Amino acid sequence: MPELPEVEAVRRTLIGTVDGRQIEGVKVLRRDYFRRMAFPAEQLLGHTLRTIGRHGKRLFWQFDADVCMVSHLGMSGRITLRMPGDACLPHTHLIIVLAGGIHLHFSDPRRFGGVWLYNRGTDAVAEHVQGRMGVDALSLREADLITWSQKATCLKAELLNQKTVAGLGNIYIDEALWMAQLHPLQSVQRLGPESRARLVACIGQVLRASLDRGGTTLRDYRDAKANRGGFAESLAVYGKAGQPCRRCGTKLRGLVVAQRSTVVCPKCQARRKRGEHAN
Ligand SMILES: [Zn+2]
Repeated sequence: MPELPEVEAVRRTLIGTVDGRQIEGVKVLRRDYFRRMAFPAEQLLGHTLRTIGRHGKRLFWQFDADVCMVSHLGMSGRITLRMPGDACLPHTHLIIVLAGGIHLHFSDPRRFGGVWLYNRGTDAVAEHVQGRMGVDALSLREADLITWSQKATCLKAELLNQKTVAGLGNIYIDEALWMAQLHPLQSVQRLGPESRARLVACIGQVLRASLDRGGTTLRDYRDAKANRGGFAESLAVYGKAGQPCRRCGTKLRGLVVAQRSTVVCPKCQARRKRGEHAN
């Protein structure tokens, strides 16, 4: 948490407001919030922000002269648009002042997130994407999962692996597996093409539905304009162990898969026995 829809919602609330603006001030309140600095952060001064891209849960801030900053929200990070004189959120580690009096505050109480600075956009992509992140979950196609026939992992572990698909976490994996009627412990190797296609369709459907509502706010998450996401009320299984399944009424069951709390409907997501292949 936050996952792809929340990071994309932050990006969408920034685009149109911050791009095209020159940096007029950089205030580093906590230097170790920077995971990597190809140059001192203060040298961002004078650079113009061209655009903000996203891959998985990371944002790529592309400035002029090919300078690039990567940001990751971790567990509790927030990027907030503020006006001059607005109070800082607690645990604000970086403030970037843009032309027009727009202040960008980067805060992160638990500090699992951070930012990275690069002289070239290709360096940022080489370090964060190539060999480290698979296809972005919003662009996932069934053909991207063709190597699953040689893998010995279970569905949930494989979907949590950012090298396989970038951007998914506990919430949207549980939701997509429930929608696709697949058990999280199902072996990926024995998942047939029809089930793979259904899973890919359900992942896209869940992510887009959440994006339409501005993501999921369980506690801390807000977009860059401090709005809560409204998808929490649409969740079918996440955090709902013990409640009736929306589809069949069976009591939802909590279990632990790949060290993560997981919720399934024992009926809709019945686990297939050995030798029994899912289509
Ligand atoms: Zn059910």
